[in-house]
Parts: sequence; C-alpha cells; structure tokens
Amino acid sequence: MNPGYCYLVGAGPGDLGLCTLRAKELIEQADVLVYDYLSNPEMLRWTPEGCEQIYAGKKAGDHAIPQGGINQLLIDKAKEGKTVVRLKGGDPMVFGRGGEEAQELRAAGIPFEIVPGISSTIAGPCYAGIPVTHRAHNTQLTIFTGHEDPTKAESSIDYEQIAKAPGTKVMLMGVGRMAPITESLIKAGAAPETPVAMVRWATTGQQQTLVGTLATIAQKIEDTGFKAPAVCTIGDVVNLREEINWFEERPLFGKSIVVTRTRKQAGDLNRKLALLGADAYEIPTIRIDPPKDMLAFGELVRDSHTYDWIVFTSPNAVDAFFDVFFKLYKDVRSIGGARIAAIGPGTEKKVNAARLTVDLLPDQPGVAENLVECLLRENGTVDHLKFLYVKAEETRDVINELLTKQGAIVDEAIAYRTVPETEDPTGGQARFKESGADVITFTSSSTVDHFLDLGFDIPETTKIASIGPITSATLKENALPVDIEAEEHTIPGLIAAIERYFAT
Ligand code: SAH
Repeated sequence: MNPGYCYLVGAGPGDLGLCTLRAKELIEQADVLVYDYLSNPEMLRWTPEGCEQIYAGKKAGDHAIPQGGINQLLIDKAKEGKTVVRLKGGDPMVFGRGGEEAQELRAAGIPFEIVPGISSTIAGPCYAGIPVTHRAHNTQLTIFTGHEDPTKAESSIDYEQIAKAPGTKVMLMGVGRMAPITESLIKAGAAPETPVAMVRWATTGQQQTLVGTLATIAQKIEDTGFKAPAVCTIGDVVNLREEINWFEERPLFGKSIVVTRTRKQAGDLNRKLALLGADAYEIPTIRIDPPKDMLAFGELVRDSHTYDWIVFTSPNAVDAFFDVFFKLYKDVRSIGGARIAAIGPGTEKKVNAARLTVDLLPDQPGVAENLVECLLRENGTVDHLKFLYVKAEETRDVINELLTKQGAIVDEAIAYRTVPETEDPTGGQARFKESGADVITFTSSSTVDHFLDLGFDIPETTKIASIGPITSATLKENALPVDIEAEEHTIPGLIAAIERYFAT
C-alpha cells in the first residue's frame, strides 16, 4: 500500500478566523485528525464524516499521549495509507515540536507537509494592543520559553543573555514560574520597572490581560489567580496598549454566551458573537435527522412542480428539500411554475443558494400566522390552490390548518426531524456545568425543550435571550425568565438585542 501523508498544521492562536485556508482545506480531507488543547475545538467541525479524531495532549506536563507515542501514532496511521493531520496551536515550528515530528516522519519514510500558523507569540500581544516591534521603541524581538526551571543547574535558558538583549521579549509557557524568571532577569541587569503584559487565552472571547512590571507581575499573578495558557510580553511596547488596545473594547468582550442550536447551525451564530468579542460556546441540544418516511418525502419532492406554492418554514427544510430534489432532477427548472414562500430571511437565503428567488416573505419574519395572511393577500383567495408545505416533523400545524380553513389543498412534506443531541462534541455541556454562562440564547421552542431535557441548573445570574414571542412563551411555560427578546425574529435580530442589553 502507498504510504499516506502527514500534515503538520498550525491551527493559529485560537480565533477561528486566524487559521489559514490551507489548514482548513486539509482538515476537510483528513482521515485522522490529531489535535491538542490549544486548537480551537470548533475546527473539529470541519472534519469529514468518519474522520478519526484523536486528542493528543492537555496542558504542559499532563500529556494524554506522550510525545514518543504521538510520533509513532502519526507514523502508524500514515503507514495505513491515511491522510493524517496533526493540528497544533499557533505555529507548529514555534515551541510546537513540529521539527521533531518532521524528523521522525522523514526517518520513517512518510511524506509530509508543514503548514505554518499564526503564532500566539505575535497574535497574543497584538490582540492586547501591543505591537511586538515599533520603530520608536525597538529593532529586535527575542522569543524564549519559560518552560524550563530556572533554578535547574543545567538550564539551557541563559537569563543573562535575555536580560542584556535589547528590544521586546516574548515568553511562552512560563506563567507558573514568573517569580523565579523575573528575579533572574532583574538579577542579570534588566530594569525592574520594565513593563510586562500577560495575555491569557489570547484572541478568544476568554482573553484576559494582566499588566505589571518585572518587579510586580509575579505578585499580581499570585493575587489574581491568573493562570496558563498565556503569552508574556516584556518591554516598552507594552505601554502602547493604552493607545492601541482594540479587541478588549468590543461590545460583548468577555461575555460568555451559550449557543443552543444544532451542531450544524451553531457555527454561524457563534462566529458572529465571537466577532463582537463574546466568549461564545456551543451546547448543541438538537440534531437534524432524516424523516421516518423518506420515500413519502421523496415522492412529494418529485411532484413539487404540480403545486401552486411551495412553503418553507425553516432553513433545514430547504436544505432537505433540495438535497432530494437534485438527486431526482438535474435542472432547477424541474420545479416548474410553483411559487415559493419562505418564513424569513434565513430560509430565503437557502432558497437563493439553489439559484431560486422567493416569491413571498411575510411582513413579520418567523410568524406563521402572518405568513398565511400574506399568502391570502397575495393570492386574493387560496380556495383550491395547491400548497406543498415543507416542514419538520414537529413543527406546529398552524399553517396547514389556516390554509385548509380557507379552502386550500395542503400536502405536508415531512423533510426532517429534530432529535435530542446526546453527545457533547465540543465539550460545551461539561463547560456549562462547571462554570455556567452570562447568557443562554434560544432560537426556537424546540431548543428550549431539548435544553431543559439535559437537566442543567441554570444559575440565577445567567440571562436568557429569546429569538421571539413563540420561543419566549415556551420559556415562560417552563418558568424561565426572558431577559432579552429579539425585536426582529432572526439571528441578526437576536444578536442586536443582546448587544443592546449590554450597552445599557
Ligand atoms: N506553537 C504555539 C506555542 C505552543 S507552546 C504557538 O506558536 O503559539 C504552548 C504555549 O503557547 C502556552 O503555554 C502559551 O504560553 C502559548 N499560547 C498558545 N496559544 C495561546 C493563546 N491563545 N493565548 C495565550 N497563550 C497561548
């Protein structure tokens, strides 16, 4: 068998947008993905179905698999002919053991590629508003590791040299040893008042920055309980933060927000919240499964051109419909003269993706009753008009009932079912149990029901955000307060409401 291929890939510092296109491309093709605790778990979502995901390492000194074992694993999997992606936080060649792994692969005759990533050494200070170089301040940058114990006799870190080097110094992996490290630097001649910034979980919504000097930072770390992982920046450039700090000023910075949509949909809301600085994390409560009677659905899709109207009430319904439609037909014109109604702009977007335009959107997006009113107004009468209503198994029957009452002929096409998500693919459930959240978002009644099924205690301080009145009603039925409700019942509307809530 041909040997497979191994890719040593930088995942970037944490924010999903700071990962390279090449990295994403490779994750999308991986047979095996080996990842560590610094890689953004959202990236696991890019893997193709059936990809084997192996968690390789936790924090320093607490490795799930020892380094020798990881090297062997990469070699063994590649020898099976597989495409192996070894995903590493930041850049694989900057304190990431990429060099060692590449040497082992070469020795074993496994072909490999190395994909650089944005290193936390640069991105960490950047997201704290600190340029590692600046013409007015320095012409040199020193990067070193604080991992070694500076009291150890055979230490290879020469603090004398580091203290003497001009310019900015950036250190990784030293949070727990800041007292001996700063002492060594001061003893070696560094000015005690040199500014120091520690940036924890840089570029993510959990970012925290602690600023001090070589003389004070260790005590500050102790007093505030500041923990790894953090990038430490030492030098005058730290002062520029006062002018340049930008990320930490975003409107939702530091707010932890739970997203409770399906695994597939959560990404979009998550990403938008993250761009506003929020520490958004996902607890998928539901999963989209095919309908119980796929044959019946297929037949209705096949006959869709015989209807006057096709009514879509969710983006998922559109996806499910066109999945089947394009298996049956090659040409989008096979939809014939049927006109298309969509419940809101999210659903419309999906219709547009099939290169079709929507003939009718309700005045009040997301409100089924209003959609029927608009259909009545548009048609004058719906008497004897044929409607294909494409929906989830559990969707309320309002549209069918109201249209039928007006004399319309309505066929229901059950396109999918929402079922409870039983796994915890990105660790969100565990995280919520441990540390709660500032806000939980609900985008449908079913996300409320399914979230409650998980049986969490919701802390009193946690605010509840709802996409609209129907979801809010379900929350209230379950004795949950609605602290935030979207004015426009869409994802952007929900985000705007959360922003407004925290602005006041
Ligand atoms: N190859 C990585 C570094 C791996 S060593 C890179 O280029 O960034 C692990 C150390 O990196 C951590 O102990 C911490 O010091 C630093 N680190 C990585 N990602 C970080 C992040 N998002 N925020 C703060 N520090 C980070």
